[in-house]
Amino acid sequence: MRTIAVANQKGGVGKTTTAINLATALAASGHRVTLLDFDPQGNASTGFGIPRDRRNPSSYDLLFDPELAAEAAQETLVPGLFLVPAVEGLAAAEIELSGQPNAAGRLKAAIQKLPACDWLFIDCPPSLSLLTLNALVAADGVMIPLQTEFYAMEGLSQLLKTIEQVRARQNPRLDIEGVVLTMHDRRNRLSDLVAADVRAALGARVYETMIPRNVRLSEAPSHGMPALLYDIRCPGSEAYMALAREMIGAAAKAA
Ligand code: ADP
Ligand code: MG
Repeated sequence: MRTIAVANQKGGVGKTTTAINLATALAASGHRVTLLDFDPQGNASTGFGIPRDRRNPSSYDLLFDPELAAEAAQETLVPGLFLVPAVEGLAAAEIELSGQPNAAGRLKAAIQKLPACDWLFIDCPPSLSLLTLNALVAADGVMIPLQTEFYAMEGLSQLLKTIEQVRARQNPRLDIEGVVLTMHDRRNRLSDLVAADVRAALGARVYETMIPRNVRLSEAPSHGMPALLYDIRCPGSEAYMALAREMIGAAAKAA
């Protein structure tokens, strides 16, 4: 199992959209995938149409009782894709865990009890909180969505520093899985300039595949399904399929 934290402390950059559609694209390619919703806002859970009264046990519960992991991973409408939902109460875990032993290692303990899969995605909240730290301690790689807009790289150095600290102290195998440029607009020169800047700064860590700005990607969650089910031919779906192929290729090369 390869565990990937989808993280960026900025909100609205495409973390959840990427987690949902990349997980779906990998499942559609025959891989077994689990998506763990680790944002108290529960957008990934909503994006799969999981009603609030069907979110127990949730990612919150796993932090306190890893044995609940198997039960928490529920089937989704995508064959081969399981989801661990999130509840608003997850926000309180921050306070409840602080000062407890191994507060940042709770998620790592829990994911070992999840049903076997090839990929586990953790959809992180928009902060560098104890929740995100738990995800970084549990992960093999961090996927960083960056919105192709003027302030794309603002805050990135703080995220990279946090990754460095986790690698030094708690999780030496933590890697940067890749940086994915999101909401790219071909008709906007600034969008291309920003993409070029990010590539110049981060080099090979940036995926070739860029996710275009595509209204289908933003409509799909209101129908409770990934864009790949809502409209498999839209540019957004095609981009996430291409990104999945790029990831599978990179993983095969590394092995
Ligand atoms: P985050 O999880 O980082 O907060 P989201 O994935 O929820 O970001 O995206 C923020 C908003 O932008 C959502 O309304 C989402 O539907 C929309 N969105 C994300 N990616 C795209 C895209 N490529 N094209 C159009 N809208 C997008
Ligand atoms: Mg989100």
